[in-house]
Parts: sequence; C-alpha cells; structure tokens
Amino acid sequence: MKNVLVVGSGISGMGAIKLGIHYNYNMRLTTLSSIDEVEKNTLTSLGVDIEEGRHSINDVNWANIIVKSPGVPSNIPLIDAARDSAIPIISEIEFAYRHTESTIIAITGTNGKTTTSHLIYHILKDNGFDVALVGNIGTSFSEQLVCRPADFYVVEISSFQLEDIVDFKPNISVILNIQPDHLDRYNNNFEKYIKTKMKIQVNQDNADSFIYHGDDLNIAPFLSAIKANKYSFSNSTNRSNNHGAFLDGDRIIINTIQNKFTMTIHNLALQGTHNIYNSMAASIAASNLGIQKEIIKKSLSNFKGVEHRLEFVGKISGVNFINDSKATNCNSVYYALDSITDPVIWICGGVDKGNDYSILKDLVASKVKTIIILGRDIKDIHINFKNCVNTIVNVDTMDQAVNKSFSLADSGDTVLLSPACASFDLFQNYEERGRVFKNKVLSI
Ligand code: ADP
Repeated sequence: MKNVLVVGSGISGMGAIKLGIHYNYNMRLTTLSSIDEVEKNTLTSLGVDIEEGRHSINDVNWANIIVKSPGVPSNIPLIDAARDSAIPIISEIEFAYRHTESTIIAITGTNGKTTTSHLIYHILKDNGFDVALVGNIGTSFSEQLVCRPADFYVVEISSFQLEDIVDFKPNISVILNIQPDHLDRYNNNFEKYIKTKMKIQVNQDNADSFIYHGDDLNIAPFLSAIKANKYSFSNSTNRSNNHGAFLDGDRIIINTIQNKFTMTIHNLALQGTHNIYNSMAASIAASNLGIQKEIIKKSLSNFKGVEHRLEFVGKISGVNFINDSKATNCNSVYYALDSITDPVIWICGGVDKGNDYSILKDLVASKVKTIIILGRDIKDIHINFKNCVNTIVNVDTMDQAVNKSFSLADSGDTVLLSPACASFDLFQNYEERGRVFKNKVLSI
C-alpha cells in the first residue's frame, strides 16, 4: 500500500490521514469541505496533498487504494471512476483493521449501538482490560491506533461504515436490530440496508462469535449461512435452547458456553425493554471474552447511561423531564414510550427521515396525553395521531416546547423529548437539541 487517497475530511477521513502518515504512506486528501488553516498547514508540512471544494477524477489513477469516508455517497463521479479503473475502495474501518492484530468487538444495529458499545466498554474496563471505544462514536478507529493503541477495541459501526468492508473480521460481532432507517441512502430499498448491516459478520468463521437479536425477523433469514458461533438474545423463553440470553419474567438468563447466570432486570442500570436487549447483548459479548459473571452483573448495575438516550433531566413540581433527543426514528420512540409508565407529554418533530408513524399509534393512544410538535415536518404527525390524543400543539422553538409542556403537565406526568426526527431544521445536531432542552428545563 503506497499511494492512499482519502475522500472526505470528517472524523473518519482525518483519522485515516493520521494513520497513513504514521505508516509513511503517500497521502492525498480530497474533500468538498474546507479544512481549518492550522490543521491544513500541519498536514501539508507532513507531506499530505490536500484538495478542497471538489474531487478531481485525475487523482484516481495516482491512487493504489481509496479510503472513502462514510458520509461520501458511493455514486459520485470520483468513486465511479475508481471502480472503472479497478482501484480498491475501502472504508476507514477496513483501513484501520488492516493495521491491528488486537481483539475487535464490533456493534451495529439500527438503534442501540452507542448505548451497547458504551456498556460493553464499561464492563471490559471494570474487568481491567486495556480497551478503547472507537468508530461511529467520537474517535475514529484509525486515529485511536495512532494515538493510543489498545488490546481490545469496541467498535461502533453504522451501515454507511459497513458499505466498504472487504476483509474486516471482528472476533465478536453484534447486530442489535434491523429496522427501516436511512432508506434515502439505499434508494428506498430496505433489503439493501439489511444486507449492508449483515456485512459485519461476513468474514467471520468458527473462531468468532456472532451475537444477534433472536426475535428480529429481518435477521432470521440470514442465520443458516452464518459461519461464526451464533448467540441470540430474546425476550422470549421460546429461545431458551439457544446459546445466548433470554428474558424469563423479570429475570434475564445468560446461557453461554463460558457463563451461566441470572439477573433480575430491576438491578439493571438501564431500564426499558430496549435496554434489556442491550444488556443481554453486552453480557453475551463479555461472557465470550471470559469475564466472570460477578463482574458483568456489577457493571450492568452501576453503568451511568449515555447522554441524550432516555436521560433523566430532573423532576420539577412533580413532573419528570426526559431527554431522548437521540431518538431520530419511530423504533426508538416506540421503546422510549414503552419504558414510561406515567402519562406522557411527548415533544416530537423535526426532519422526518421517512417515518411510518402508524407503528406508534397504539402506544401513543394508551400513554400520551398531549403532543407538542417542534420543527419542520408536522403534517404526518397530525394525520397519524389526531384520533389518539386530545391535544396537539405546534411550536417553533425549544423554549416554547418546554414552557407549553410544563404548563399542560400535572404532577406525576412525564415530559419526554423523543423526536422521531433528525434535528437539522433547528439545531446543529441531536446533541445540541438535547442540550437546549436540558438547559431550558433546568431554568424553569
Ligand atoms: P444508535 O447509536 O444506534 O443510534 P443509541 O444507543 O444512541 O443508538 O440510541 C438511540 C435511540 O434509540 C435512543 O432514543 C435510545 O433510547 C433508543 N434505543 C437504544 N437501544 C435501543 C434498542 N435496542 N432498540 C430500540 N431503540 C433503542
């Protein structure tokens, strides 16, 4: 590997550049964005050629390999030209993988990736492992290899990052669930999205483990062809014969070759059905790594949770406020509503990525008393829920959303920000949306 062309200058692209420099490769970076002057000078002084504002197709023939960032679509002229010239195109995860021998635990799924990755990382840390948390989560896999190599990597992987996997072979892979999402990227073809998610295990063999949601019908058709050792997690005792984990009443039962134990769900730090799944998946992964059941149980109960995911903000005049700003599709809202027993004032809305709100109708009818819609895509929410709740209010700002919810709430209610939508109409990202919500709540 000599001449490496990195396409895209986000977290992944910049990580790949750093890894390439570390290995003395000839590096070129092409990006449609502009790069911070200081960073640009540093990279240039390290011999990186940088092209900003466009992608020159001429660069393709210079490259031995192309590292494509996950945000870059696969149908741009540069990538088409690379394919025509048979230049290998790989993802940043693949690039990093080719430069490490460490143990890899890779996690994907439509929802729950960040929570479960953090949970697995937390258990491994509690057990004294030398572990790093990388991928779709903050620090790129490539950058971590340069800055602080570790013996174990917990890698959160999105479907976009899986698109250009070639040899990537995690020791443990996890698929939490597969539900419609990001279909705009896959020409509205759900099958294509499912197949991309399944690539996480495609190179695994019987030395590796594959952990999956045993009740997910979108994963089931692929199982017979999987070569890795399979471990399912399920909310049904029907799967009690499978290796893995299942829910029996209010106990989770872990049944792997390495570990057999039960734990009451009341001792789990993360509550709600979805988090029971996440905790089961994490327990199986940890068991596979030889971690003892006492450590796993302790770590599952002292985990602090992750910001913006069903995050408890505070209780004001008897009203609970929960920040679930990361819920950008209906599936995650489903589990948020499912986990709350109080009457709910639900703040939703924003940029709709193709929601089918009908899956929420029954839950909304039984749990939600008022809907507050914040943001751009309003119509479908009204159409779907007008017969489910008495009051639907449109607002323009987060201040109005919080004030209105609080004025309509009674003591004992829960105000839930769980938007089912992306945030880009009003905010930089879901983190900003969550922070603005929390600041407003705490200023009441
Ligand atoms: P991801 O990284 O896949 O986006 P997160 O852990 O950030 O997942 O959670 C995103 C949203 O999905 C949050 O609203 C969270 O409460 C919800 N969620 C978490 N785990 C699951 C799960 N297993 N199934 C469905 N929803 C989940």
